[in-house]
Amino acid sequence: MKTLTGKDLAAAIRAQTQAEAAAGVQPRLAVVVATADEASLWYVRSIAKAAAGLGIACDVVDLGPDAAPDQIAETLARLSAAPDVHGVMLQTPLPPGASAQQLAAAIDPRKDVDGANPLSLGRLAAGLPAFPPATAAAVMALLDHYEVPLEGRRAVVVGRSTVVGKPLAHLLLDRHATVTVAHSRTRDLASVTARAEVLVAAAGRAGLIGRDHVAPGAVVIDVGTNPTDDGGLTGDVDATAVADVAAALTPVPGGVGPVTTALLLRHTARAANLP
Ligand code: NAD
Repeated sequence: MKTLTGKDLAAAIRAQTQAEAAAGVQPRLAVVVATADEASLWYVRSIAKAAAGLGIACDVVDLGPDAAPDQIAETLARLSAAPDVHGVMLQTPLPPGASAQQLAAAIDPRKDVDGANPLSLGRLAAGLPAFPPATAAAVMALLDHYEVPLEGRRAVVVGRSTVVGKPLAHLLLDRHATVTVAHSRTRDLASVTARAEVLVAAAGRAGLIGRDHVAPGAVVIDVGTNPTDDGGLTGDVDATAVADVAAALTPVPGGVGPVTTALLLRHTARAANLP
């Protein structure tokens, strides 16, 4: 089984993004945070660090874990209206009672670099230009980087969230794959996923995808990031179990994750130079 790492691809995207950022107005990303979740704060710090390395300004607007939904919406609207801010992102999780989907409607679609505004998903579904969520875009970028053919092939996406599963299904459809979306109510998951030539696991359940879930020769992309007891991360795919059946698998960590961050910053650089 081939391991499809994301590191080289992420480095190439970062290099290109750095050149784009240097060519025009300095891009600025604002990340709105309203959580004390340590993994989430770590991710935001990693975005800020990566941005700095590419000449992209990154403001972390931390409203604290007790922020009211109205306050979050007003902050997103204010940043969307600020001429020197080009990308606006709302980090999850959010305080109880706050809905990411509802709040993200306050992000100007032209600055919606993580494709969180429902309008962005609608435009994506309609085949119109929009920023896709960076994670869904990262899956497509990995498939392209490793020259995995999609046209006419059976692709199965496990997970139907608005940040990963649904936008990814549209992106795969745009590339003429025959797409099935499986989810927590899918009966006999293994019988569905075992038909996939391209299988994307985005359920957030460690080890959900085992040997019986994978067809011989399938390309498997593991989006899942599940915390382990020793402070690390593991994917949705049991890599050992599928090793002698899958043709290729992305590692966790080091697969989809680094490409996601690189694409978020690419989207920000592009948002800064939209006509
Ligand atoms: P989510 O909880 O919003 O959605 C999970 C989806 O998986 C749901 O649609 C649910 O129906 C489905 N699901 C859950 N259990 C299932 C089961 N037993 N069988 C079949 N389907 C099942 O999660 P999300 O935000 O879409 O994220 C999914 C995973 O991807 C998480 O592990 C998350 O941490 C990870 N993620 C990684 C990146 C990255 O950059 N690598 C970015 C975003 C999310």
